[in-house]
Amino acid sequence: GARRYSNLAASLEDTITPPVKVEQTQLLINGKFVDSASGKTFPTLDPRTGEVIAQVAEGDVEDVNRAVVAARKAFDEGPWPRMTAYERSKILFRFADLIEKHNDEIAALETWDNGKPYEQSAKIEVPMLARVFRYYAGWADKIHGMTVRGDGSHHVQTLHEPIGVAGQIIPWNFPLLMLSWKLGPALACGNTVVLKTAEQTPLSALLVGRLLHEAGLPEGVVNIVSGFGPTAGAAIASHMDIDKVAFTGSTDVGKIILELASKSNLKAVSLELGGKSPFIVCEDADVDQAVEMAHFALFFNQVTNFRQTYGQCCCAGSRTFVHERVYDEFVEKAKARAINRAVGDPFKSGIEQGPQVDSEQFEKILKYIRHGVDSGATLQAGGDRHGSKGYYIQPTVFSDVKDDMLIAKDEIFGPVQTILKFKNLDEVIARANNSRYGLAAGVFTQNLDTANRLMRALRVGSVWINCFDVFDATIPFGGYKMSGIGREKGIYSLNNYLQVKAVVTSIKNPAWL
Ligand code: NAD
Repeated sequence: GARRYSNLAASLEDTITPPVKVEQTQLLINGKFVDSASGKTFPTLDPRTGEVIAQVAEGDVEDVNRAVVAARKAFDEGPWPRMTAYERSKILFRFADLIEKHNDEIAALETWDNGKPYEQSAKIEVPMLARVFRYYAGWADKIHGMTVRGDGSHHVQTLHEPIGVAGQIIPWNFPLLMLSWKLGPALACGNTVVLKTAEQTPLSALLVGRLLHEAGLPEGVVNIVSGFGPTAGAAIASHMDIDKVAFTGSTDVGKIILELASKSNLKAVSLELGGKSPFIVCEDADVDQAVEMAHFALFFNQVTNFRQTYGQCCCAGSRTFVHERVYDEFVEKAKARAINRAVGDPFKSGIEQGPQVDSEQFEKILKYIRHGVDSGATLQAGGDRHGSKGYYIQPTVFSDVKDDMLIAKDEIFGPVQTILKFKNLDEVIARANNSRYGLAAGVFTQNLDTANRLMRALRVGSVWINCFDVFDATIPFGGYKMSGIGREKGIYSLNNYLQVKAVVTSIKNPAWL
């Protein structure tokens, strides 16, 4: 059975008042905050208590239509794709400055709506938001085509042009980062956008939308529609006047997006989907370091060397494969680490893990935990809710997990570590790749040959060797197999937002062939 859970349950009694006021709750269409066409609103909840933070305008098909009309006009007639690339980059740089100026306010909204530790929001995610926009601001005036050899009697060039109106649909786990990975490249390339935030976390994007306009973004270039997936989201994916849709979320919904795009106008599609990423601890690994990194890889939801988390990360190292020679020591230490994890009000300093985002995720995770127990995995730590209110879950560790258990196959998306034993590299490569997902992998070894072998054999979009979750703006990210289509971040993401036009001009009497 589970060890007694000795965490900070008592600290949940008083809920800290977030140091921010909610100001923007309407839809952002054509540069103005407006009510939804229906007048409907929906509540967004505080995951610490389940109480309502604010009522937010609920966008639906008609609002998406209005937003597309604005984005279409801004693209077809407006200044954004027509101004110099340098002008565009200056607006994006100014926006990044404003993000920094409003750092704490944005971070507080993000934490309040999502539940992630405030220190993570304020010290990592909001600075990262500025970093991503500066990275893509720098690209704006470096996007250019090529001259191509051709057949000798023609001058051939390629023009890299914006694709048009981009629809973008994002999840709740990293509301701001997902927004930056989508808006950054789209705007740098001169596109206009209709963005739908996740219904669980609409608030931070609306503040960011206000700041974009303060930075000088022309009206209609970025439109933000809060609302639900089957209504507003589906309206974006199936819209005849949207040229491209970028989606981050679950694999099931990714399939729906692809289907809606194919049934409507064959808009270009890029998808960042789920994962069940292996974290492989080899026999030569430093066990203490491996335990800490594996803990971080699963429980953490963000960037390097910062200890906080709640496991709601698409690339979480959620299958911890440990070599039999170090397995027992690893399990003992992983258990101790999880028991010591600081869970509590995310606005308190030193907290590593806040509540899960909503009751649906909370219930789903608890169901998987029960499933793990029923299927015979050994519960080493946690296993239950933390405290008596809100959506907190105890950091949970299972050992003796088998590949065919549901907890080893499905994306749990919560603070549940599953530890599996392996004997040799051939075996662990086959087992690691035996997944419908292919998002990321971690490798822990001091042996260069082992690292080289695993990095090539693993069928995943990111391999982190002796590290995990390293997310600089320059590094491409995306999935193999059912973890997605296309890459975000880095230079690769520009391809999602550009069309290539080949221009062929006849040359009479060329001097050289
Ligand atoms: P989800 O797929 O339910 O929702 C994501 C977004 O899609 C939300 O905005 C939602 O409103 C919208 N949506 C839902 N149904 C829709 C429909 N029928 N049509 C159009 N839009 C619809 O995902 P979730 O559970 O909220 O988010 C977690 C998932 O996101 C996990 O699977 C996680 O792995 C994945 N994720 C992936 C990455 C990545 O980069 N690969 C990053 C973060 C999260």
